[in-house]
Amino acid sequence: MPNYVISTPQIIGLPIDGVDGLFPVRRVYCIGRNYAAHAIEMGHDPDREPPFFFQRNPNNLDPSGTFPYPPHSADVHHEAEMYVALKSGGTNFAVEDALDCVYGYGLSLDMTRRDLQGQMKKMGRPWEIGKAFERSAPCGPVHPASTIGHPTAGHLALTVNGETRQEGDLNQMIWKVPEMISYLSEYFELAPGDVIQSGTPAGVGPIKKGDVMVVTIDGLGSLSVTVA
Ligand code: MN
Repeated sequence: MPNYVISTPQIIGLPIDGVDGLFPVRRVYCIGRNYAAHAIEMGHDPDREPPFFFQRNPNNLDPSGTFPYPPHSADVHHEAEMYVALKSGGTNFAVEDALDCVYGYGLSLDMTRRDLQGQMKKMGRPWEIGKAFERSAPCGPVHPASTIGHPTAGHLALTVNGETRQEGDLNQMIWKVPEMISYLSEYFELAPGDVIQSGTPAGVGPIKKGDVMVVTIDGLGSLSVTVA
């Protein structure tokens, strides 16, 4: 054991459906504007421009089911997304080989301080302050691909206090999961433990303390998160 001079950072482990063990998280990549209707609602052209990604921190993932309303924002939005968890990595994957890296899939939220993100966009500055804050990515357990396969279609929805806010289908992704992995692997060295949040359909909007958000995707169960 190396003799670290301060307390060591904790490895974030996600629960796994049906498996006694945890999925250790290394990095979190998030794609922007991956559903045409959401690109349009955010004021962008939905044509297939090259994909773009931002990153958040492994310890922003939070399976607790509680989302504390973060400071310095009066406009925190929900974005319901499927995440992809990688079991292996490397560089320059062909699209046809990319799914070999996938351990499994799960439900997540890409919670966003939209007001701060908007200010950063306007000034041409990085988005982290809008996206990579504490507990900004509530998530459910990983569902292993060995059990559920590789979902390419399926109804995705988010309700707030029982009212449907977001709806779409995984088959509406502009960049499909193998394409995202292939693209990322050209720019970064992917590795076991990497997680990709795959984008949100239309209908993003604000939440407030006390709200209960429920994300569902066919085959991946449901994720209930209370805003505290
Ligand atoms: Mn998002």
